[in-house]
Amino acid sequence: MHLVEAKGILSNTNGINIYRGCTHGCIYCDSRSLCYNMTHAFEDIEVKINAPKLLEKKLAAKRKKCMIGTGSMCDPYLPAEKELKLTRSCLEIIEKYGFGAAVLTKSDLILRDTDILASINEQTKAVVQMTMTTFDEALCRIVEPNVCTTQRRFEVLMEMKKRGIPTVVWLSPFLPYINDNEENLRGLLNYCAEADVKGIVCFGIGMTLRDGNREYYYAALDRHFSGLSEVYRREYGNSYEIVSRNNDRLMRMLNDFCDKRDIICDVQKCFGYLNEMPEKYEQLSFF
Ligand code: SF4
Repeated sequence: MHLVEAKGILSNTNGINIYRGCTHGCIYCDSRSLCYNMTHAFEDIEVKINAPKLLEKKLAAKRKKCMIGTGSMCDPYLPAEKELKLTRSCLEIIEKYGFGAAVLTKSDLILRDTDILASINEQTKAVVQMTMTTFDEALCRIVEPNVCTTQRRFEVLMEMKKRGIPTVVWLSPFLPYINDNEENLRGLLNYCAEADVKGIVCFGIGMTLRDGNREYYYAALDRHFSGLSEVYRREYGNSYEIVSRNNDRLMRMLNDFCDKRDIICDVQKCFGYLNEMPEKYEQLSFF
């Protein structure tokens, strides 16, 4: 872990990334790809130690209230966050200035901040997003080795439900020949139904592979799924988008499931929901 003084924190789309790199160890992680030009080992996380200060300056000067997102490039609840409390500090600033928050994580450490998320949600809007890929707990430990498993993430969703905080689940990625099957999807969807999620983000049944993450993924396949990397090489070559042969069938299953339960599952509509600030709060900010 190394600490840096960042120059900026808020992106043009109102996103913040407090950390760079990640220690959760997901075998398929796209953020490892060479195109992101990491200048340090991916697990040697960069900590933007001045993130709360930068965020406060930005939000104090912003006239129009909006949703502030975090978690797109790295998880805001890495184990280091337990001590550093930078994500928590940023949430406190979001609360103080009357903005909304949309937080994406795989970690149950977010439960520590339920109080502040509930307070933001009472004041404006907070949405907790959990990524879930693998229903089978033993398989999940292989695929996402250093973070809590899917069952625990489901418990987080249930806690948010109890507190009235809306949730969105990211079902992504699905790894061909590993978890791209009906049993897995059914298990994950049952969790979503029980937790009353507002939306499901799913880009299709498949994954992406590019230079950097492909090598890491194939090495993990060689350790845990003998012979499978050869199958991938043969079937997918150097393709970026890897679409499961079960894509059409499973996407139909997902769409039918969401239609019946009124869950948003169109990706653009989901993003619309995540970015949408309740109108009355947008207006309030002009006074
Ligand atoms: S949590 Fe996200 S950023 Fe971290 S290793 Fe997993 S996929 Fe990569």
